[in-house]
Amino acid sequence: MSRFWSDHVAQLLPYVPGEQPKVADLLKLNTNENPYGPSPKAVAAMQACINDGLRLYPDPESSELRASLAHGWGLKPEQVFIGNGSDEVLAHVFHGFFLRAGRPVLMPDITYSFYRTYSQLYDVPQKLVPLADDFRIEVDDYLADFGVEPAAIIFANPNAPTGITLPLDDIRRLAQGRPDTLIVVDEAYVEFGAESAVALLAEHDNILVIHTFSKSRSLAGLRVGYALGSPQLIEGLVRVKDSFNSYPLDRVAQVGATAAFNDREYFEHTRQAIMQARETLVEDLNELGFQVLPSLANFVFARHPQHAGADLAAALRQKHILVRRFSAPRIENFLRITVGTPAECRRLGDALRELLKP
Ligand code: PMP
Repeated sequence: MSRFWSDHVAQLLPYVPGEQPKVADLLKLNTNENPYGPSPKAVAAMQACINDGLRLYPDPESSELRASLAHGWGLKPEQVFIGNGSDEVLAHVFHGFFLRAGRPVLMPDITYSFYRTYSQLYDVPQKLVPLADDFRIEVDDYLADFGVEPAAIIFANPNAPTGITLPLDDIRRLAQGRPDTLIVVDEAYVEFGAESAVALLAEHDNILVIHTFSKSRSLAGLRVGYALGSPQLIEGLVRVKDSFNSYPLDRVAQVGATAAFNDREYFEHTRQAIMQARETLVEDLNELGFQVLPSLANFVFARHPQHAGADLAAALRQKHILVRRFSAPRIENFLRITVGTPAECRRLGDALRELLKP
């Protein structure tokens, strides 16, 4: 029997996450995790926290973590909002700022698919702006006349899954050109060579920057993300979170994220290793005949002119290597490959060499 909610359920088009395989022995290059693991200081701090006991509730405001992040980014604590992963922060942004705005949210047609998922979920009108032929974001396309001032422009920078970065001057141009629009810059991958739009916050109070501990800090399993912006925007996010009585970060996550953020040395060391491995991987893929988009992320986006992406991904899986594929038009033949350790990248290169052997 069809119930009144059947149509609603059918219309919910949830985000499809990358595969998290249950079997061991797979080289996971499909969800952009960091191959090096978190800072040993963070692990020690979390262990100590557990040993102390978890009897007491956590600090609902994650004060110590916020203070560390504010200090590190040269901001005030009231410019930092913490969430359980940046996906949760993004959900609060959509809920708090766009749900009742009655104005469209602009986003690239090829970007992190969560933005579309949230737009659909909250019935926020969305306007997809096609990427240029070379897969770059073309800022002028966002400054065109849409008949109505958009509520927001949202994109990942570096963009996902392309890896291509929009320069800060272009983000500045967006913020200046659309002062009554919120510019949400999702910098999940910014720390692998790109410049952060945090540098623009002092001049522009319509920019909100989103960060995560999942990639450059290698704490995807801990679920910590945060937003940086004007005190007013951050206050808005706090009000949304409090309205839901959303869980604050648990004690272990607060302590672990704080220690990870403060361990600059480990962070530098591992991010440099990933950036170097990326350059070698790109050279290897180019030699194998792939077209590789210029990436400043911890993944590369590449296609082979003679081979369908689906076939290559399936053949790699046979060899116990997982990479990510997308079925959207224009990118269906690309593979998104996470940058692993040099040894993992070599294993991928060897597998592809064998597969592409004439
Ligand atoms: N933004 C982008 C662009 C991402 O690729 C991801 C990871 N899938 C996220 C946000 C979410 O990261 P997390 O929730 O782990 O912080």
